[in-house]
Amino acid sequence: MPDIVDISQKCVEFLLDRQIARSRWRIIPPSAHHCVTCSSPIPQARRKAIPDVKACIKCQRLNELKNTNCRYSPI
Ligand SMILES: [Zn+2]
Repeated sequence: MPDIVDISQKCVEFLLDRQIARSRWRIIPPSAHHCVTCSSPIPQARRKAIPDVKACIKCQRLNELKNTNCRYSPI
């Protein structure tokens, strides 16, 4: 007869298996062929390396710089 620990462990195993199965079947949207910001083509190597990529490397770097807390001012 299973005790409460056995039942609890079976429940945890079931939930983990279900989460793993869901993550394996997660749909990744296709990468863009052209940058959503500047419309320049995104190289195939970049599209392969980064699933769901939407921006060229130049625009991505600019976006990352904008999103940092850097308060540099040239004046
Ligand atoms: Zn771009």
